[in-house]
Amino acid sequence: MCETIAAISTAYGEGGIGIIRISGPESLSILRRIFYCKGSIKSRRMTYGKIIDPEDDSIIDEVLAVYMKEPSTYTGEDVVEINCHGSMVSLRMTLALVLREGARMAEPGEFTKRAFLNGRLDLSQAEAVIDVIKAKADASYEAALSQMEGSLSRKVREIRAAVLDILVDTTVNIDYPDEDIEQLTYDKLLAGLETVGDEIRKLLATADTGRMIKEGIRVAIVGKPNVGKSSLMNCLLRQSRAIVTEIPGTTRDTIEEAVSIRNIPVYLIDTAGIRETEDVVEKIGIERTKEAFNNADLIVLIIDASHPLTEEDEDILTRLENRKSLVLLNKTDLGNAVAPRDIAHKSPNSDIIETCLIEEKGIDEIEDRIEALVYGGELAQKDSIMVNDVRHEELLRKAEQAVCDAAAITKTQEALDIIEIDIREAFDRLGEIIGETVSDEVIDEVFSRFCLGK
Ligand code: GDP
Repeated sequence: MCETIAAISTAYGEGGIGIIRISGPESLSILRRIFYCKGSIKSRRMTYGKIIDPEDDSIIDEVLAVYMKEPSTYTGEDVVEINCHGSMVSLRMTLALVLREGARMAEPGEFTKRAFLNGRLDLSQAEAVIDVIKAKADASYEAALSQMEGSLSRKVREIRAAVLDILVDTTVNIDYPDEDIEQLTYDKLLAGLETVGDEIRKLLATADTGRMIKEGIRVAIVGKPNVGKSSLMNCLLRQSRAIVTEIPGTTRDTIEEAVSIRNIPVYLIDTAGIRETEDVVEKIGIERTKEAFNNADLIVLIIDASHPLTEEDEDILTRLENRKSLVLLNKTDLGNAVAPRDIAHKSPNSDIIETCLIEEKGIDEIEDRIEALVYGGELAQKDSIMVNDVRHEELLRKAEQAVCDAAAITKTQEALDIIEIDIREAFDRLGEIIGETVSDEVIDEVFSRFCLGK
C-alpha cells in the first residue's frame, strides 16, 4: 500500500501561518489522532481545533485543519493540510507528531510526483510547478503558469496525435498491404511528415525566448571610466522593480543587480572596464570583466559622445563583432564629438542610441531593445506557447530529426517498415515530454529539482 507522506509546505522562517501537508491513505486517521475539535471533520471544510499530543495531552498549537478526500486533490490521494501559527517551533512539533503517528517525511517534490503518477498533471505540467514557484518576474511567472495549466502539453499532444495518424497508416499498409484499405502513397506520407516537422520547428523557434523569460538575460555594461556606467545602472534600477534575490558570484570588481525590465528578469552587470594592465589586483578585476563580457546575452557599451573616440573605445568596439550589442552615445548634453555614423561602420551590427543619462534620456529606448532581444522583435509572440526547458527542447530536436529522417527516406521510396522506425521514434520522443513514454530515472531526476513540501 502507498505510504502516507508529510512535510512543512510553507517557506522556512517566521510567518503569519505555516502549513503542514499530509498525503496518502492514513492522512485522515493521523489527523483524527492529534486534532481535537468540536463536531466531526468533513471533507473540504476548514475546521478550527487544537493539535494535542495524545501521549501526554500537551497542547502544541491552535490550528485550522482541512481534510480533502481523494481523488480530486493536488496529489490525487487523501490530503490533509494543517494551518499552524507560522512558528518553526509549532511546525516542527506538529510535523514530528504527524511522523510519529505513521507518516513518513516526504522527499522534495514528492507531492507533485504523486500528482503526476496519479494522472493529475502530466510531466511537463509538473515541471512547470517549480517554475511557477521560482519565477522572479511577471513574464516568467505567466509563462510558467500557462505551462502548468497545460498549454505546452496540449500542443505536444496535438502534434503527437498527428504523428500517430501517420504511424497507424504506415503500420496498416505494412501489415495488410493487400487488404482493401486506402493505399498510403509516398506523396501523402511525405506531406504528413512535412506538416508535423513544421509544427515541431515552430515550437523549437520559441526556445530562445522561452529560456530568456524563464532564466532572465545577462546584460554587461562596459566602457571606459566615467562614461556613465553606474548612472545607467541607477537609471534602470530606479525605473524597474528590483528583484530580491541572491546573486552568486557578485564581486567587488563587477557589480551585479537583478531587476525586472518590462516584466523580464534582467541581470545587470556593471564591469570595471576592459583594459590591458600590469597591475595584479586590477588584472583579476579585468579577468572577471572579460568573463561577464563573454557570458552576457547583451553587451551595452557606453561612449562619452562629448569627446572624440579614444583608443580604448575603439578597442571595445572591435570586440562587439558577432555579439548582440547596444552602443550608447552618452553625455549628449555636453556636445556631439561622436555621432552614430562614426560608430555604425565600426560596429555594423550594434544598435546605437543617443542618451543623456544624467537626465534619464534614452532609457525607454534601451528597454525597448532589451524587450526586442527577448521576443525576437515580435511582441505578438508574448502570449504564444513557449518551450523553456532544456529537456523539452532536446526531445523536440530529436523528434524533429526523426521526422526529417523519415521524410528523407520517404523521398527515396524505401520500404515502409524502414520509415516506420523513425516515425515511431518521433512519437516516443514527443511522449517523453509529457511523460507518457519516460523512464523512472527521468522522473526521479525531474522531481529531485523540487523543494521540500511541494
Ligand atoms: P562610470 O565610471 O562609467 O560608472 O560613470 P558614472 O556613471 O559614475 O558617471 C561619471 C560622471 O558622469 C558622473 O559625474 C555622472 O553624473 C556624469 N554623467 C553621467 N551621464 C551623464 C550625462 O548624460 N551628461 C552629463 N553631463 N554627465 C553625465
